[in-house]
Order: sequence, then structure tokens, then C-alpha cells
Amino acid sequence: MSSDRRPIAAANWKMNLLRRDAADYCRALRSGFVGRRPAAEVLLFPPATLLTTVAGGIDGLADVACGGQDLHPEAGGAHTGDLSAPQLADAGCTWVLCGHSERRQDHGESDELVARKALAAVGHGLTPLICVGETADERRAGRTFEVLGRQLAAAVSALEGRFELAYEPVWAIGTGKTASPQQAQDVHAHIRGKLAGLDEAVAAKVQILYGGSVKGSNAAELLAMEDIDGGLIGGASLDANDFLAICRAGNA
Ligand code: PEP
Repeated sequence: MSSDRRPIAAANWKMNLLRRDAADYCRALRSGFVGRRPAAEVLLFPPATLLTTVAGGIDGLADVACGGQDLHPEAGGAHTGDLSAPQLADAGCTWVLCGHSERRQDHGESDELVARKALAAVGHGLTPLICVGETADERRAGRTFEVLGRQLAAAVSALEGRFELAYEPVWAIGTGKTASPQQAQDVHAHIRGKLAGLDEAVAAKVQILYGGSVKGSNAAELLAMEDIDGGLIGGASLDANDFLAICRAGNA
């Protein structure tokens, strides 16, 4: 990671944990960071039922923030089961994931919808962490950069304000198959180059996180790469101590 950028360690709990687990987790983070501020910006993305527990549990903890795993592009209305950006902000969120591959796959989210969600987030003062990534078939067919280019152009071309990106190859999520540091670096550099074509200043400062089977044992070598600015971590973030180890890896 470049010394101009501060790493981000982001925990995606997906559809896991209960209120008591969330409260214990926040207490463990608090003890883990006692006397030393995290070197990274730490983000927790709990399921909706745990947002207020987590927001309360990290209250006053420097450099730790909470975000939603998804949002509806509208600010309110007849959308059963959805959450809006103002509702996330009201629950204590300052961040939100947009376009996670599990949303794209399980809920058929299109690039256009992901773009609307990111715009809604920024419009209501949330920072979107926009996820992009190719499937195994797309990589095998040599289409990785084409797919990423399409996802990226749709999501960021109209955005003004802070956003960050997560490159998450779908074949590496929850599979134990991590992209090699060089594989990930090549894609991150490509993404930064594409962004530079849209806006050089944004490209220089945007954080590009890698996600896909990151754990304590591989985090440092990934974070050592020039264009890998942090990690989005699923499975290995469910245990506070495992996540703390990742937060400390490579000064992240
Ligand atoms: C994720 O879902 O964002 C993720 C990276 O999951 P895992 O770390 O379990 O591969």
C-alpha cells in the first residue's frame, strides 16, 4: 500500500451473529485497541438487526465506524424489507456496502442499481464502499478487465464525494482461494488506471480494498502491495481476535 493512503480493515459479517455476539465483539475490539489507536481505519458491516448494538458498542472508539450491508436507492416509501440511507444514518452508520457480489447474485442487482445506491449513499452523507469483481468463468474467459471496467464506470462516473472500492473476485469469496498478491495487485493497478482516466485526483486518493478469503496469515503480504489499500473480510472477521490480527497485519 502506498504511504499516502491509510489502510482500511473492513469486517463484513453478512447474515451472521446475534446481539450478544455483537456486544461481546465490540468489547473485544475496545480492549484490543486500548492504549493504541488502530493504525487502520476500521469498519464494521453488521446485519441490519445489529446496527444499533454495534454503533453503540463502538461509540467513542477512535477510527472505528459502522456501516450497512446494503441500502435502497430511495429515501423512503413502500419498499418492504429494505432500508434507506437516512435510516442507516439514523442507526449510527457512516458507511454502506454497495454491490457486494452476493447482492448482485442473490438479488439480481444490476450495475445501474448499484450506481443508484452509491449515489443515494453519498447524497445522504454515507460513504459507499463499492464492490466489484469477476466470476471464475469470466476470469477463465479473459474477461476480468472488461467486467470490472463495466461495473466501475456504472458505479463511479456520476459520483461526487468520498467513495472507496473493494475488488472482490467472486471465485475467492468464502472459498479459501485467495488471489495471489500479484494477481490482486495487477487488478488494483488496472482499476486505479481506469479511474485516472475519469479523474486523476480521485484515482490517487481512492482506497482499493482486496476481498476474498483474507485471513491473519495472508493479510500482511496482500497489504504490502502498492495498490492494495486494505481488506474487506468476511469469514475471518466473525471472530474479534481474528479480525484484530488482520487489523494489525502490515500495520493495517
Ligand atoms: C466478503 O464477503 O466480502 C468476503 C471477502 O468474504 P470472505 O472473506 O469470507 O471470502
